[in-house]
Amino acid sequence: MNEQLPENFQPLHSRDNFCFSCHPGVPCFTECCRELDLALTPYDVLRLKNRLQMHSGTFLEKYVLIAWEEGQIFPTCYLTMVDDGRASCVFVEPTGCSVYPDRPGACRSYPLGRGARRRRDGSTEEQFVLVKETHCRGFEEARRQTPQEYIIDQELEAYNRANDAIMPLLQHKRIQQGFRPDRAGLDQFILALYNLDMFRQEVADGRISMNRPLNAMELQALAGDDEELLQLGVRWLLQKFFSE
Ligand code: SF4
Ligand code: SF4
Repeated sequence: MNEQLPENFQPLHSRDNFCFSCHPGVPCFTECCRELDLALTPYDVLRLKNRLQMHSGTFLEKYVLIAWEEGQIFPTCYLTMVDDGRASCVFVEPTGCSVYPDRPGACRSYPLGRGARRRRDGSTEEQFVLVKETHCRGFEEARRQTPQEYIIDQELEAYNRANDAIMPLLQHKRIQQGFRPDRAGLDQFILALYNLDMFRQEVADGRISMNRPLNAMELQALAGDDEELLQLGVRWLLQKFFSE
């Protein structure tokens, strides 16, 4: 694995610790909120649209650029940047991040990179790297922590849990065998994972049908629980793509 890593990526064992802290006192404060490609996970969108009290469709229209290129399996949703000469994030302000309690997982996680893989028994295997960028002065801070301590400190557990729950779809063996969604499948992927409020409506209206009756948790999803709804979205896509 190490040979394939870019130069500024340092492998990190779960027991290793690293010096890093980010706070308004660092000289580079908010520098990393500019000129970046910020890919959003479905859970990032769920948290942000709820914070802004927006319908998911409105959030996608206003803040997200959906990109897909030939050869790519699923589309990527990028947070739009402002055309201010510095390509700043739409949510950055002089005092910091205006959506801080619900900022995306990538913003919380930096400089810790986490790779997750589903084992055959359904458990998750994690690997960590430290991403060192020269402009980031947070590495000069004295605070030391292990990856797990950093994950807790940044309240990343809910993000990791939600992202890992999508792995049965993203790492499905049929994808390794060459499955690629058609155009309608790409739209269904965005609907079920990113446009949750629309997906809820379509399930409730009967425009989307499930291959087995909804259980208690899934009914809860229809009643307003977005995290459960995301699970229902994964289940529907597994049904559509892989007849599961
Ligand atoms: S969401 Fe917040 S932390 Fe993330 S890039 Fe934008 S301003 Fe920075
Ligand atoms: S560049 Fe590093 S230390 Fe500076 S604000 Fe961003 S994450 Fe924090």
